Amino acid sequence: MKLPEGLISTLRNANKALVLTGAGMSAESGVPTFRDAQSGMWEKFKPEDLATPQAFRNNPQLVWDWYADRRNNIRGVRPHAGHAALVELEQYFDSLLLVTQNVDSLHQQAGSSDVVELHGNIMRSICSETGQVIDEQWIKSNPGRPPASPHHRHGLARPGVVWFGEELPAGAMNRAMAEAYNCDVCFSIGTSTLVQPAASLPFIALEAGAVVIEINPVPTSLSSIARFSLQATAAQALTAIAADMTRHK
Ligand code: NAD
Repeated sequence: MKLPEGLISTLRNANKALVLTGAGMSAESGVPTFRDAQSGMWEKFKPEDLATPQAFRNNPQLVWDWYADRRNNIRGVRPHAGHAALVELEQYFDSLLLVTQNVDSLHQQAGSSDVVELHGNIMRSICSETGQVIDEQWIKSNPGRPPASPHHRHGLARPGVVWFGEELPAGAMNRAMAEAYNCDVCFSIGTSTLVQPAASLPFIALEAGAVVIEINPVPTSLSSIARFSLQATAAQALTAIAADMTRHK
């Protein structure tokens, strides 16, 4: 794809990069976004019916089973060329912090070196009462959907993700915010910029004077104010950027 004039020179002159990714980043690996995940036996539920603490309190088995389905899907997927291109781009900056809303570990699998997970990790289970991580072996060897927690007598195992209405891990959000204030360029990739507080990061970067580059095939509230808005998929845009950066080395 043809990149807009000035994009590569802007990246060449930048020292600190912040990359925010959302569910659209994983779409080309075959991980459905929330909205796309509501198909088949799940189509009568909205994400808000399944991804909240209240949903888990009301029907832990339903929520556990939905996450078990998503985990199974994620076990079979691999990073795509866009994930690899982000790893390649690291060499052009003094620092590149990758802040993801995704819970699938695809950036880590691709080899990104500095990843902050804002919304947790779907492969991890935690105690519903204490938040402590529960060993995978415990989950496998104990009955129940979900199994009881080993950490609290009223606790159950629950997915180690941040649900609607829950606080983000403070350390992760603080680091992402600090970088949003400090970066020279900020990518916003495959995110609708609707789910707060993660959605605020590119807007903070913009206010603080960074060049914002959005990659999303569908326009969002960021598109008209970002310096560069690439209406393309993550793999298309990122591979084109990495290739042009190599050519202009
Ligand atoms: P979202 O609000 O981040 O929206 C997804 C965005 O991706 C949309 O704007 C869409 O236009 C865009 N998109 C779709 N295909 C794309 C592609 N190929 N390249 C680039 N952009 C593309 O995501 P959501 O589905 O509403 O989920 C909200 C939150 O739920 C996530 O931020 C995350 O915490 C969690 N979630 C995670 C995963 C995962 O780990 N892969 C999947 C689903 C949901």
